Amino acid sequence: MHCLIRNGQVLTGGQVKKSDILIEDEKIKEVDENIDYPADEIIDAKDKLVIPGGVDVHTHMNLDLGKYVSIDDFYSGSLAASYGGTTTIVDHIGALEKGASLKKMIDHYHDLADGRAVIDYSFHGALYEVSDELIDEIAGLYRDEGVVSVKIYTTYSGKLDDDEILRVLKKAKETGTVVCVHCENDKSIEELRKEAKEQGNLDPIYHAKTRPPATEAEAINRLAYLSELAGYPKLYIVHTSTKEGLEEIKLARKRGVKNLYCETCTQYLTLDESYYYKDGNAEGIKYIMAPPLRKTEDIEALWQGIIDGDVDVIATDHCPFYYGRDKSPYKDNFLDCPGGGPGVEERMEVVISEGLKRNIPLAKLIDLLSYNPAKIFGMGHIKGQIKEGFDADIVILANNPYTISQENRHSNCDYTSYEGFVSNYKVHTVISRGELILTNGKYSAKEGRGKFIYRKF
Ligand code: MN
Repeated sequence: MHCLIRNGQVLTGGQVKKSDILIEDEKIKEVDENIDYPADEIIDAKDKLVIPGGVDVHTHMNLDLGKYVSIDDFYSGSLAASYGGTTTIVDHIGALEKGASLKKMIDHYHDLADGRAVIDYSFHGALYEVSDELIDEIAGLYRDEGVVSVKIYTTYSGKLDDDEILRVLKKAKETGTVVCVHCENDKSIEELRKEAKEQGNLDPIYHAKTRPPATEAEAINRLAYLSELAGYPKLYIVHTSTKEGLEEIKLARKRGVKNLYCETCTQYLTLDESYYYKDGNAEGIKYIMAPPLRKTEDIEALWQGIIDGDVDVIATDHCPFYYGRDKSPYKDNFLDCPGGGPGVEERMEVVISEGLKRNIPLAKLIDLLSYNPAKIFGMGHIKGQIKEGFDADIVILANNPYTISQENRHSNCDYTSYEGFVSNYKVHTVISRGELILTNGKYSAKEGRGKFIYRKF
């Protein structure tokens, strides 16, 4: 099976140029100025941008929080992702019962995702507690399961203490595993939330006020120093949301902390904390997520971080709950609202539109949306580039402004965080591992066609 994409403005080798792409079965066979080949399928991409499929390394499908479970599963969530031009996701797995092995957790996620996902996927391991057995398993995940990254938390019920974090980092240094860390100072947030409760400050804005920038920056600073003690394993700070947090990453790198990566998410680049006041709190409750939305100066600092090369990845932290059923009952008590929001479908269009408006080159944006996440997480040999031998994960964008709205979304969620956002580009065609799954509104990916990616370095 051969497919030829002709006349597109193709992002390849770090630049946009008019090229043709020949796909043979699941792989990119050739990228060149003029390819003449009797292909089974010919796609005319004239006047369109042709980019590598998006790689979103921070999603939470089926995340079981006990009282609530995030409402996109691996079918609906990956479907939404693919409509938005993302062809690979790496999901942060949830906790099982105390004492459950990492292998058991990964097996559980295979049960959830295998035969369901419509695009390729993988999982990050997660340590919600530490024991000799769990630490030993980090090597087994890397070697046998194709899982070369683990997540740890500095807050929430599954948080690790500094001694436990140090053990994880030391083991990761030995194995080459990437340690992803949710950085927030748990105890100070607990105290601030207690104060808010006592004072009756329960409007959504207090979600932001009780998780101020210092709580993020302190934890990032601590992790960077713990990394130093562990000999600089690969340390990946998820969802950096503040100017102060980014400053800590820059300072750490300056003093010699190696292998330190910085992720931010679409929402921290586009939405500010004024959203918490929307419609007298009724809308604001939609944006309860941790970290919270920040101020415009944080948004500007993060974009500057992208321009300066300080931010490596833009992900989503896609973790939706229904507004009507799950979130709106808490509009007058943010403390009990399930945290998380949708975003897997919007990331590519929103970031590309917003980034190009800010005169950031497309190649730079795609570095953060596809190339870097693939490379950092052990998929750099097959994903994230339009290049001979790579998986044919290709997205064609039409320069066709349209308004993002709940009516044109595909997640299970009953709202979009980007309602009313005018995207200058619209995903027109999506090819996933050589299969044309979306073209001009016609969608054809079958449930379960996505494959688990054995990641490696
Ligand atoms: Mn998350």
